[in-house]
Amino acid sequence: MDLDEFRRNGHRMIDWIADYLANLDQRPVREPVEPGEVRAKLPDQAPERPEPFDQIAADLDEIVVPGLAHWQHPGWFAYFPAMSSPPSVLGELASAGLGVQGMLWSTAPAATEIESCVLDWLVGAMGLPDAWRTTGAGGGVIQSSASDSTHAALVTARERCRQRTGAAAESMVVYASGQAHSSMEKGARMAGFGHFRPIAADEAFAARPDDLERAVAEDRRAGLAPAFVGSTVGTTATTAVDPLRRMGETARAEGMWHHVDAAYAGSAMICPEMRGHQDGLELADSYTFNPHKWLATNFDCSVLWVADRRPLVEAMSITPSYLRDAASESGQVIDYRDWQAPLGRRFRALKLWFVLRSFGLEGLRAMIRTHVGWARSLAERIEAHPRLDLIAPVPFALVCFAHTAGDEATDALAEAVNAGGRSYVTTAAAGRRFIRAAVGSTWTTRAHVDRLWDEIAANAERM
Ligand SMILES: *Cc1c(COP(=O)(O)O)cnc(C)c1O
Repeated sequence: MDLDEFRRNGHRMIDWIADYLANLDQRPVREPVEPGEVRAKLPDQAPERPEPFDQIAADLDEIVVPGLAHWQHPGWFAYFPAMSSPPSVLGELASAGLGVQGMLWSTAPAATEIESCVLDWLVGAMGLPDAWRTTGAGGGVIQSSASDSTHAALVTARERCRQRTGAAAESMVVYASGQAHSSMEKGARMAGFGHFRPIAADEAFAARPDDLERAVAEDRRAGLAPAFVGSTVGTTATTAVDPLRRMGETARAEGMWHHVDAAYAGSAMICPEMRGHQDGLELADSYTFNPHKWLATNFDCSVLWVADRRPLVEAMSITPSYLRDAASESGQVIDYRDWQAPLGRRFRALKLWFVLRSFGLEGLRAMIRTHVGWARSLAERIEAHPRLDLIAPVPFALVCFAHTAGDEATDALAEAVNAGGRSYVTTAAAGRRFIRAAVGSTWTTRAHVDRLWDEIAANAERM
């Protein structure tokens, strides 16, 4: 494909994406597809001879689209949203076209400096502690996923604990709510921590600080080394908010690292009225949130901030001879390879930069507030319905509810809504089974939320 063909095909590909998005509502949220069905449409071997691009692109319609769950469908209420938006898609495209590797400042200076700047902007925009800016002691870095961000925080915490106490990783303990995301426990295991302690949650699914204190005291008596507290703002199952300040105080008093996982809810912090949920951040050592969930930015884009960048860089930095570099040695620049596990890195800041400038903070705040408003109105209708129970508070835009007749009726209700093909919700369990409806897909409108409600109400009557 020469550049003229690229230009022609590229314009058509943008048309294809716009058509796909414009017509999504005519398709089922999830295509009916059986395991192996997609693979069966593909040849066994890679093509020996070049194929015309027309033929390749046609298979998007023939093979790809009919084999997907459509995450950008306006009836998508499952899991959490994985937002995408036109400016973000264009940022991704530009990043692919530039094809740079930003592992060192010198390998792509603009990639590094735009990333630092955009994340510094977000410190202000989200009301985070000023010291987290790269112009202060801390700084932000874009990772692939919140799981990677949490893993990096865990590795850093392990090294700091080793330096401070001389303890071996096998005797170190990680604490997080039993409601925390699985990446907390998985990261602890991957980082070599000997122990993971799930902390009990209260009736609103938030971690109980007294249980954290009890567990730490018990572990100290047993000769173990408490090393890491993971708090969550907006848990995955129910968007519960852990008491950050209390957990941060315990972490500080015990010399532990305090990491805050706000993967989903962090985006809401661009609205000042939400920030009460993250009171106590000045006691946090690290914080992660995913613009790729709820800030109109395509996966992958997870931000990790650290209050002090030195322990992170110390834990991650190894310099082989082929990476020796004058700019790095001058100490004047950031080399983001030292802030993450991989060496190579994409220019992911570009899409976030495009999004922040295209929407403006005002536009993003309006988007979040709209989603929160629709979620609350859905929650009110659920609460008023005689056969439905709201099972958790709705601080953000996730609504958790169950059928009063019990777990079977709840599962049957979710299945009935999903069988219609126009809306998609998932279920979870915390004592009892419940349905999660996450409002926040890019193309969802009020009418789609109303349609979801009509489907819930009509089916709930029949259960
Ligand atoms: C979604 C989620 C994660 C995992 O995010 P990835 O970016 O997919 O790794 C972690 N923590 C919480 C609270 C989440 O909701």
